[in-house]
Amino acid sequence: MREQIMGLITPTMAIVFFAVFLVMWWRGKMGSYVLGFAVAYVFFAIGFGTTHLFDTGSPYVFHITQFFYSMSTATAIWALTRRAGQPPYLGVLLVIYALSAVTLAVAVVTTPEISSRLIIVNVGYGAMYLVCLMSLLGGQRREAIDKLIIVAHSILAAQFMIRPVLTLLVEQGIAADGYRESVYYSVLNLSLALISLMTAMVLVGACVYDQIKAVREQAELDGLTGLRTRRAFEQDVVELLERAKQECLPVSLVVADIDHFKAVNDVWGHQVGDHAIAQFGEIITGTIRDTDLAGRIGGEEFCILAWNCDETAAATMAERIRCTFAQAQVEGMPDDHRLTASFGAAGRIEGEGYGRLFARTDAALYRAKENGRNRTVRDAAGKKRNVVTSITQSVDERREASV
Ligand code: GH3
Ligand code: MG
Ligand code: MG
Repeated sequence: MREQIMGLITPTMAIVFFAVFLVMWWRGKMGSYVLGFAVAYVFFAIGFGTTHLFDTGSPYVFHITQFFYSMSTATAIWALTRRAGQPPYLGVLLVIYALSAVTLAVAVVTTPEISSRLIIVNVGYGAMYLVCLMSLLGGQRREAIDKLIIVAHSILAAQFMIRPVLTLLVEQGIAADGYRESVYYSVLNLSLALISLMTAMVLVGACVYDQIKAVREQAELDGLTGLRTRRAFEQDVVELLERAKQECLPVSLVVADIDHFKAVNDVWGHQVGDHAIAQFGEIITGTIRDTDLAGRIGGEEFCILAWNCDETAAATMAERIRCTFAQAQVEGMPDDHRLTASFGAAGRIEGEGYGRLFARTDAALYRAKENGRNRTVRDAAGKKRNVVTSITQSVDERREASV
């Protein structure tokens, strides 16, 4: 009777965890991997309930239990690897399940004693978790919570491998109908309850961590353009400048401002102005590389940190954005009307922090505005001090000279 009651602890806990993960997935609008955790706990509860409530003398009970435990393990592995962006190797898991199911079937028919059955199924689950660990260890993502997941699942894999062997060393030979009264069953109950509590806590922690991270990342993005907000941009830029200094890589800054934007709002309305800002953001996103950093630092002002780029390359990138924007049709504006933007570009010189670099780039933008807008002005302080080159101007000058 005592074992009967004790045995209800694990499936009850599993049902509670199922409910927790389901609510997190549903109400928190989280990724499908959270639903995967929920489903894994349902399978686990069914598997455990089957062993606990039905006659273990019946050969089918072991097969049904093994099926649901394997489903639970495979679903949990699918969810864990999906969260980490790693392959789940479902084919390998299926092969492990098939092998242990066939071996189990042979053991069920050949001996009424269940020690061999316990070793077969547990080694199977342990092998599945080893596959999972190999996949997780191959991933790039390795924050503290990811390491914790790997540690928890290493313990889980180890207990599946070690527990049956150790317990059976103490208690040789368990008859099928005496299974629930065995020492093994008590150890199983205790270790499964403790380990499922531990892994569930780690997984709940991972989900909470992921949710907080997603909310924080969302708050760091500007709603209109999807680029970083000024605060997030400045935070990230300072970190990147430090990294560039350590790695001795060139970095440059580009500052852009849409021309005569007040008039856009005045003539076509604020909503059209918003469309123009969004479109400018889209062009920036489509032009910069993954390693660059872009932010909307003011109403219609943008800043880009060009990684591993000198000022010439950064000015060329600015020109690409300028030309694309000058040809773009903004939603809500007449077909024959186009907007333009002005750009300043400057490369970081040795010992320079974000404040001074930004001031030089902004001054270059100011000169672009003064010189007639719709152009990129490069501050060449890094190469020739006090020499300012306007790319657009020099192109215009060459064109004039050739006429
Ligand atoms: P310039 O060529 O010298 O840059 O002239 P400008 O008219 O663009 O001048 P300025 O950069 O000072 O104008 C910024 C305007 O942008 C003022 C403000 O009404 C508008 N603005 C700022 N934020 C938003 C926004 O989120 N949406 C819209 N539609 N307008 C905005
Ligand atoms: Mg402007
Ligand atoms: Mg402005």
